[in-house]
This record gives sequence, C-alpha cells and structure tokens, in this order.
Amino acid sequence: MDNIPGRLGIAFVVSGPSGTGKSSILDRVLENDDNLRFSISCTTREPRGSEVDARDYNFISHTVFEERIKENAFIEYALVHDHYYGTLRSEVEQYVTKGQDVILDIDVQGAAKIRAAAGKDDLWQKVTQYLFIGPPSFEELERRLRARGTDADDVIERRLLNARVELQNWHQYDYLVVNSNLDEAVAQTRAVIAAERMRISRCAAADPWL
Ligand code: 5GP
Repeated sequence: MDNIPGRLGIAFVVSGPSGTGKSSILDRVLENDDNLRFSISCTTREPRGSEVDARDYNFISHTVFEERIKENAFIEYALVHDHYYGTLRSEVEQYVTKGQDVILDIDVQGAAKIRAAAGKDDLWQKVTQYLFIGPPSFEELERRLRARGTDADDVIERRLLNARVELQNWHQYDYLVVNSNLDEAVAQTRAVIAAERMRISRCAAADPWL
C-alpha cells in the first residue's frame, strides 16, 4: 500500500555537501513519483545556468528576504556561501496537510534548525524525516568538484571547507545514502521513501479496512 489512507505527507529533509550528486539523485527521484513534490526555497543568490524562478528557487532580494524573516515566515533560514537560503513554512505545509510528500534540499544548518523547530511544533515533528547523501570518500568529492569546471578555485576551496563541516553532521540524520553509483543511490533513496510511506504510525484511521 503506497499511500496509507488518511496519512499526512512526509517532509524529507535531504542534506549533503556540493559534489555528492544530491541534485542529480533528487531530480531522478522527483521525476517518477506523482506524490512527491519539491519544496522551492527562497534565496538571495543569482540564478545559475538553466535555473528558473519559482521552479528551482524563489529568487528574491535581500530586502524581501529580511521582511519574510521579520514576519516569521521561514521554518528555517541560513547564510550559505554568503547568500541567504530559507524554507517557507507554507511551502511545506501546503503539501503535507494534503497527504503529499515533499523533498527539502537544504544544508546541515537548515536541517538542524528544522529539527529544533519541529521539537516545538506538532505537525513538523510528525512529518519530518532526515536523509544524508554522502560521497564515497573525501578525495572523490574533491575530484568531482574540480571536474565540474564551472567554479573558480576560491569557490571550490570554500565548498571543500564547507563540505568538511557538513560531513561531520551525517549522524544526526535518519538515513544515509552513499553515492558511489548514481543508479544505486537513486534506488536507495526511493527505497527510503517507500519504507517511510508504509509506516503504521502514519495511519490516521483507527481501522482503515472495517
Ligand atoms: P546552491 O546554491 O548550490 O543551489 O545551494 C547551496 C546550498 O544551499 C546547498 O547545500 C543547498 O542544500 C542549500 N539550500 C538550498 N535551499 C536551502 C534552504 O531553503 N535552506 C537552507 N538552510 N539551505 C538551503
């Protein structure tokens, strides 16, 4: 049973340093799953490459971001690589309250803030699950970051420094997927989602069959 009757959606909080292939894994998982949505974060950084506003991110100004902070609209926000990134409560709640699952692609600081906020918020406590995506080794991560060829040396150095900090936090997550092979990592991520959907504790109905 893929969708337990009356269940709330699940918010999968997914972290992992740049270069782990997190975006490629999540793109593939999202492509083939009708009940899975992507939580569109707000950011003050500029769009890159083929990114589209309101699909990849809500690209907003510093001023607007700070207004949203004052309104308490974010469940979490963080400064990552000198830019603000944040998750709107409404973005996730609109899905989980309708039984739809949602993927949050956020850094470890953001995930820690959601964990803390969920401790004081019944809905968020019920719906959140945490997944960490790691590289096969630190050397391989460095090789992948350099092979991209899109970033300047100082950007790569900063990402590597950040990666070290992120990699120290893996044990705070519920699941670990090591991306040695993309197809396998996609299959493992789908398996985590499938298993979480079948948890008996997510079933709201007292007796779903009778
Ligand atoms: P990028 O600029 O490469 O798209 O993302 C940089 C980092 O910011 C990634 O680690 C990504 O997971 C993180 N990030 C994206 N959206 C959010 C968000 O809403 N909150 C937080 N805390 N981090 C985010």
